[in-house]
Amino acid sequence: MSRYTGPVCRLCRREGEKLFLKGKRCFTEKCGIERRAFPPGTHAGGRRRRRQSEYAVQLREKQKVKRIYGLAEKQFRALFDKAARVPGVTGENLLVALESRLDNIVYRLGFAPSRKAARQLIRHRHVRVDGQTLDVPSYSVSPGAEVAVAPHARELPLVKEAIEDRKSRDQLGWLGVDYDSATGRMLERPSRADIPLAVEEQLIVELYSK
Ligand code: SF4
Repeated sequence: MSRYTGPVCRLCRREGEKLFLKGKRCFTEKCGIERRAFPPGTHAGGRRRRRQSEYAVQLREKQKVKRIYGLAEKQFRALFDKAARVPGVTGENLLVALESRLDNIVYRLGFAPSRKAARQLIRHRHVRVDGQTLDVPSYSVSPGAEVAVAPHARELPLVKEAIEDRKSRDQLGWLGVDYDSATGRMLERPSRADIPLAVEEQLIVELYSK
């Protein structure tokens, strides 16, 4: 299954909640959920949501997480299989692996307004890890590694605006960042409690265990 390339607000409306896929817009009244809080293809006050089966609930949770991180099914499943092989709670391992991806770290540090924009920044070779240019968004960042926007890219409007916007919000405790040099670090691997994500990852484990 390939990556979804249609209107992203539709994905939030499908899940019935904000997935924060569009950066700054997600925090304004222009947000698709704020304006049309009903599933795509229906009308306000129209079709009611049917009671969902157990399978449907599990599937929706998996789709939601997959969409938040912008992964295709194959990549997501591969990450899940890897998470299931290492010691610990599989659902938590999965979220930690997702959070450790380079595109997520660039986004969480505030160098890009969304994970999608972070991926683009990385693919265009504007991001360095421990001083080396790395153009692989799925790269798994290790604790202690330095993640920085390359000097030539620090003046990009996308980067500058993202940093300005992020400065006004709290930074996660497991990340350290210096906005002036657009440099950050994963201080430690996050625990589940450190990941601000309202999802029930156990439902994904149950789905893939069928
Ligand atoms: Fe989702 Fe952001 Fe679009 Fe709102 S603006 S519907 S949170 S992607």
